[in-house]
Amino acid sequence: MRDTDLLQLALGLTPPWEVVASRFDVAARRLDMDVAFPKGARFVCPACGATDCPAYDTTGMTWRHLNFFQHEAYLHARVPRVTCKTCGVKRVAVPWAREGSGFTLLFEALVMAMMAVMPVAAAARLVREHDTRLWRILHHYVEEARRRADHSSVIRVAFDETAARRGHDYVSLFVDLDGPRVLFVADGKDAAAVEAFAADLVEHGGAAENVSEVCIDMSPAFIKGTAAHLPNAGITFDKFHAVKIVNDAVDQVRRAEQKTRPELKKSRYIWLKNKDNLSGSQRGVLSGLSHLNLKTARAYQIRLAFQDFYAAPSQEAAEAFLKKWYFWATHSRLTPIADAARTIKRHWDGVLRWFDSKIANGLIEGINSLVQAAKAKARGYRSTRNLKAIIYMIAGKLELRLPT
Ligand SMILES: [Zn+2]
Repeated sequence: MRDTDLLQLALGLTPPWEVVASRFDVAARRLDMDVAFPKGARFVCPACGATDCPAYDTTGMTWRHLNFFQHEAYLHARVPRVTCKTCGVKRVAVPWAREGSGFTLLFEALVMAMMAVMPVAAAARLVREHDTRLWRILHHYVEEARRRADHSSVIRVAFDETAARRGHDYVSLFVDLDGPRVLFVADGKDAAAVEAFAADLVEHGGAAENVSEVCIDMSPAFIKGTAAHLPNAGITFDKFHAVKIVNDAVDQVRRAEQKTRPELKKSRYIWLKNKDNLSGSQRGVLSGLSHLNLKTARAYQIRLAFQDFYAAPSQEAAEAFLKKWYFWATHSRLTPIADAARTIKRHWDGVLRWFDSKIANGLIEGINSLVQAAKAKARGYRSTRNLKAIIYMIAGKLELRLPT
């Protein structure tokens, strides 16, 4: 067996392609292989599939292939354009690479596997390529898989914003609660993000009219966007967000009161955490403070009551409870608590809807923390497009069709 035969087998080349020469340079750590076709070979037309097309002319091309042990391996070939009786002159597709890629399919499969578990820049260092070339591969496979994604079954959606880059830029994640999977990543966090999602849903075989439940925080832009672009969707306001509004009010009361009651210093987390999550000594502090006549302690009791609301046995019971709670909170003479209660009141239906829909944004929070962790590991992304591709890769449940 000649060494070129071995390479031919290893590359899995099919006729008319064959390895005709190889050059092994130990000092440069490189293996270069020349692939060619015999004179007079016939090809398949890439446009219509007609066989028996003769070569018209050729162009020299190079592809990086999987390393040969520690040596970088390259394929070189003169790729023909063929004459097809029907289509005219067309460049043929080579079996080892995609059109326009400078890498073989197997090399792409390898780097895709690497990029699934490490930042793109780290994969680029390992294979000694510039990371923009690897990003191009990633975008290709992610976009191709997204094109094929089927969103026809989508009926319950949660969405929320997440920071794209330091401080300002945002993207919004749209999550299929029954997937669970990220369906769409929109630019920004305004009503137009919902519009873009509705359009994308249609592109993937879904329908905006089929969306019957959404879960969001109390963002006016999302409320407006839902009404305009998801016409049949009932809104549930995320319960953790609702509790947080009341929690933040407790914190405001404490901060104001602390100025005259120094014993409140360093008690911040005691009021914010759930009782069950407090340590023994924290519980001691809490019970000591509870015996003093503190505004913070009253605000805290109102917050605890609001949480109990979610344990109500039915929507009717919950509504009766909420009415009493609202009266209590608005008559508490604690301005931040009364303001929080009015915010809840303005979103009453969506808060109560939880008793029917039982949906929340916990799933998005989880996805969000994975995304932020990947972002931190990658030390941020150069573009929003890169961030989006990573989100789809992490949480899109895409069927990436990688070469094998
Ligand atoms: Zn043709």
